[in-house]
Amino acid sequence: MKRVLVSGAAGFIGSHLSDRLLAEGFAVVAVDNFITGHERNIAHLADEPRFEFRRQDVSVPFEIAGSLDYVIHAASPASPKDYLEHPIETLDVGSAGTRNMLEIAQSHGAKFLITSTSESYGDPSVHPQVETYWGNVNPVGPRSCYDESKRFAEAMTMAFHRARGVRTSIARIFNTYGPRMKLNDGRVVPAFLDQALRGEAITIFGDGSQTRSFCYVSDLVDGLYRLMLSDEVYPVNLGNPREMTILEFAENIAESLGLQAGFAYHPLPEDDPKQRQPDISKARRVLGWEPKVPLEEGIRRTVDYFRHLQPPPRAEANSTPAFATS
Ligand code: UDP
Repeated sequence: MKRVLVSGAAGFIGSHLSDRLLAEGFAVVAVDNFITGHERNIAHLADEPRFEFRRQDVSVPFEIAGSLDYVIHAASPASPKDYLEHPIETLDVGSAGTRNMLEIAQSHGAKFLITSTSESYGDPSVHPQVETYWGNVNPVGPRSCYDESKRFAEAMTMAFHRARGVRTSIARIFNTYGPRMKLNDGRVVPAFLDQALRGEAITIFGDGSQTRSFCYVSDLVDGLYRLMLSDEVYPVNLGNPREMTILEFAENIAESLGLQAGFAYHPLPEDDPKQRQPDISKARRVLGWEPKVPLEEGIRRTVDYFRHLQPPPRAEANSTPAFATS
């Protein structure tokens, strides 16, 4: 049985990826320090003999006994709110954490996969973003702790590949959403759904003209799994190319959930990227991958999850949601 080390396994993406690996017949060695991940995301795996959990900060060196075939470094605060709260830990996990995970991959002769980000492109001047674009990142702005950490992680990955012959892949993940996101992690999908479910005004940052493209988590995980198995060394974008403005997205959510509380406008955070849309030609070509879950379906599944997490909404405004729960 092949064995995979997954860092950040109690996080949003790491936990879904662990589920997929187990479903594919792998054994999973899961590590997480719970800085932003949560035990509830892996609680369902407590009795799974092929799932081994260890509480571990991967920014300090550690060892794993036994064989490993793949090492996936998915640990990192990922929402702007989280990484602004933990800027040094975010830089550590992308730098020292990546180094430590690469050392483990090398010592086990395992293939390494880093979950990098569309933030490598910063506030992009090339649109949609292609992997050959080098990006436009403010190295000293508030988001730099995340952007530069991931860019460093990509550089460290390429250095281990070139200098030490480690087999490596780099995923650049665009905005992803779905069950197991934290309701209060500040990202736009949980923020809007939480507000809509409570009947509160939706908070739009800036004038809402900035764009994003949202990928459902099972699609993203399928892309990661295919990339793990592939020989592609250079970065591959994984995301859903359906782009919309944040205002359009808010209108969509408000209409779907029957929300009448309106929108509340707040200042745009510093360095908030104005546009973001993945060019996924490379993922289509080298992985045979493209997203399948429509936004409406993904949002319905996410709403179902959030409904079970929070008390019933206070307001009457959303008493007849179009996203019916199952
Ligand atoms: N955003 C918003 N209202 C919110 C949260 C986020 O308008 O309550 C905007 C944010 O300014 C950004 C976009 O939604 O333009 C996506 O933000 P998110 O934090 O989800 O991720 P990002 O793509 O910026 O990393």
